[in-house]
Amino acid sequence: MTEHEHALQTDVPQESGHGGHEHEEPENGDETLSADELRAAEIEARRRRAQAQIRQYPDVALRLRAHEIVDFDDELLQLVERMQLLMRDAQGVGLAATQVGVLRRLFVFELDEEGTQAVANPRIVDPSSETVIDEEGCLSLGGVRVPVERSTSLTLEGQDPTGAGVRHELAGMAARIVQHELDHLDGLLIIDRTDAEHRKEALGILRPRPILR
Ligand SMILES: [Zn+2]
Repeated sequence: MTEHEHALQTDVPQESGHGGHEHEEPENGDETLSADELRAAEIEARRRRAQAQIRQYPDVALRLRAHEIVDFDDELLQLVERMQLLMRDAQGVGLAATQVGVLRRLFVFELDEEGTQAVANPRIVDPSSETVIDEEGCLSLGGVRVPVERSTSLTLEGQDPTGAGVRHELAGMAARIVQHELDHLDGLLIIDRTDAEHRKEALGILRPRPILR
């Protein structure tokens, strides 16, 4: 049992939302940015570029079931690399292939000290009957955050990008992330997993959003 004093978020950066971000419009005549401001601006620009490549609700790809991966080839390795870069740049901690419009059973996620993992054909074995409800966000659902009930621990089995078998015993945040990402591969989103009241509220936030493409 791990204790998280802040809301757990799966796909999304820990500190996004809630205003806060540096939106310092330079005053007329003073356009000089400090090194820190430049770095923050560059990181934000990279986040936006990555975000623009991630499918947003109600994109149909997010609702489709991804297919088993059979060929562990160079193309798959390139996809893994692209997803890892996107996840990092978008400041996420997990990303499923369906979120980049690729219907293959693959996701990447951050695993504490072990770094970024990529798992093909993932399956959850022995999810704990003990569950916890906590708030989740999603890189495909803008600023929406809803409470979702998840098993507190599980075993994740699957294959690495070369096709070799992998197995992770996970708990807490990592267990939550992989349940969220596996849902993506089955066309499920956090708005499907939350209660009716939060779903309604989330859809209210998502619906009026104009499509900027
Ligand atoms: Zn997500």
